[in-house]
Amino acid sequence: MVTNHIERSSRPKSLGRYYPSEIGSCMRKVWYSYKYPQELQPELLKIFEVGNMLHGFVVEVLKSEKNKDVQLLRSEFPLKIETPDFLISGRVDDLVLVKASGKTIVVEVKSTKSIDFVKEASESHVMQLQLYMHATGIHNGMVLYIDKGNLQSKQFPIEYDEGQVKEILERFKQLHQLLTSNLLPIDEAKKNQDKQWLCRFCEYTEKCERNES
Ligand code: SF4
Repeated sequence: MVTNHIERSSRPKSLGRYYPSEIGSCMRKVWYSYKYPQELQPELLKIFEVGNMLHGFVVEVLKSEKNKDVQLLRSEFPLKIETPDFLISGRVDDLVLVKASGKTIVVEVKSTKSIDFVKEASESHVMQLQLYMHATGIHNGMVLYIDKGNLQSKQFPIEYDEGQVKEILERFKQLHQLLTSNLLPIDEAKKNQDKQWLCRFCEYTEKCERNES
């Protein structure tokens, strides 16, 4: 019944429309996801659903009358960054006003299996947040991790970094060029120790092994 309830067909991706949540991943994996789209497996959908539930909970916490120091200004709002060749389309989790300082903060919420292993914000999550800070013009950011098992949380303030945003936009440009010219990117995750774990969850390992383009 749970599987039936959350089942949905994935929307095909179109060249020229890219997503901030993917750009920190393995470039080759993202490339394959455009060339060889796959239906999301029910087990993966269930994991996403837990993330959505937890984000709903975080919204409740931020809106709560009992938390008078902060005000939730917006949540789950779409944003777009347009370039002459392509469009970057994303969704900001939360925009929060801290009343004491008058600061607004872009908050990116991520659920995690075990908060004990979270020592810093992951590169991919920071990249996503940098783009959101860039697009909203709000240069205070925070990645908030929340544990799926016990609701413990950790938060990491992130400063806006114009140089990093340029590099991220350049990465989107490379992805677009590789896709439109049908050139297979390098097997980035295999070659980077920090990203090798991605290969364990990659649905394209066989194609990647064969360097299939
Ligand atoms: S197997 Fe690893 S290197 Fe190859 S596409 Fe997947 S994540 Fe990238």
